[in-house]
Amino acid sequence: MSHLFYLSTAKRPVLDRAEGIYMWDRDGRRFIDGSSGAMVSNIGHSNPAVLAAMRAQMEKSTFGYRLHFETEPGEALAAKVAALCPAGLDKVFFVSGGSEAVESAMKLARQYAVVRGQASRWKVISRFPSYHGSTLGALSVTGYDPLTDPFKPMMVAMPKIPAPRAYLDGLDMDDPATGAHYAAMLEAQILAEGPETVLAFIHEPVGGASTGALVPPVGYMQAVREICDKYGVLLIHDEVMSGGGRVGTFLGGDLWGVVPDIVAISKGFGAGYVPLGAMVAPSWMVDAVQAAGGFLHGHTYAGNPLACAAGLAVLEEIGRCDLMGNAARVGAVLKARLKALMQRYGFIGDVRGEGLLLAFELVADRETMAPLPAAMKAFDTLVELAYAEQLIIYARRTRGGYAGDHFLVCPPMITTEAQVDEIMEKLTRALDRFAADHAA
Ligand code: PLP
Repeated sequence: MSHLFYLSTAKRPVLDRAEGIYMWDRDGRRFIDGSSGAMVSNIGHSNPAVLAAMRAQMEKSTFGYRLHFETEPGEALAAKVAALCPAGLDKVFFVSGGSEAVESAMKLARQYAVVRGQASRWKVISRFPSYHGSTLGALSVTGYDPLTDPFKPMMVAMPKIPAPRAYLDGLDMDDPATGAHYAAMLEAQILAEGPETVLAFIHEPVGGASTGALVPPVGYMQAVREICDKYGVLLIHDEVMSGGGRVGTFLGGDLWGVVPDIVAISKGFGAGYVPLGAMVAPSWMVDAVQAAGGFLHGHTYAGNPLACAAGLAVLEEIGRCDLMGNAARVGAVLKARLKALMQRYGFIGDVRGEGLLLAFELVADRETMAPLPAAMKAFDTLVELAYAEQLIIYARRTRGGYAGDHFLVCPPMITTEAQVDEIMEKLTRALDRFAADHAA
């Protein structure tokens, strides 16, 4: 009997080792990590430079509590992150994961509002569907009832607006009217709540698992920024999945030149070598909170020297090997190959994403975009068929009025075009079997 306790009950082999985009189980079977775990292992596994940096740091110190010591890796990593972020986002608060980064962002926003005499502002508007983390605060802005409902009233149900899923609503992504249409929903929600009660709006510039790499329509990002400014609402970008370079730029917001007031990053930031995340905020906000007594928040392991040394080495590898450029180039190739599958399989309704944050969605009818029947469990089936091909993809069925089954194909940023061929061969075999067995 295993003493491990996980959410999933799927029987999985035991991991032995991993290198580059490949992972081997104890029986020597080689898998392609086609989803970088949960969009985490951005620079691939066992990168020698990162391992060397970690070993060197381990010889010096692995833990120094942040109230007792500053650390060189911490200072260096903060400087590197600030340099990679848009001008103005220059204060870095380390955490150990995505939920912690989101919690930190919401708490800093709230403390800032209190400090500037706006204690009436507490609501954080978010989108539906969305995923912002598993802790109670992050769940309160998560738009996904199956995950949130059992925890009410322990968490506050924050106001939600629809995510801009133009592809489902039959709207043209490239028409500025579409972006304006969805952004207007934010303005309407702020007005309905009462602007004096609204603290922040949080969303993912390029969606993660909840929407399947949703890309906003033209003009949406800029319009959201303007609406937030108009009503004094802080804009938080959750870049836990989209940040770190996977979309071809360090932050997803960079694709549209939109700078948030606070950004949350994690996942690819530590790239699976260590648990690492950060909240990045501007000096004007942080200084105001510090001057009023300091930020009332922190986690014990945050910013430990080993995590920071690993994170620094990850960012240096991304720069040295131009992995953001590679994500953009190889991502375009992979996206085109995924789009071509739409000719072969009528049940692929949409292919979307940026860089190597890509997804495809299965539908019963491409015209209406009706999802496949839930009872078909396409989400489980296709993941297992791909797994049998030793290809790992990440699937989510967002149920009950959300969307259908979608699959994230997000290999590490080091992926080559030859490896895209390998991924596509395996994926096509899995889809052929799916078509033969299930979609006929
Ligand atoms: N925010 C987004 C956009 C995510 O995708 C995730 C995780 O999938 C989180 C927050 C939560 O991160 P973690 O699981 O590291 O707490």
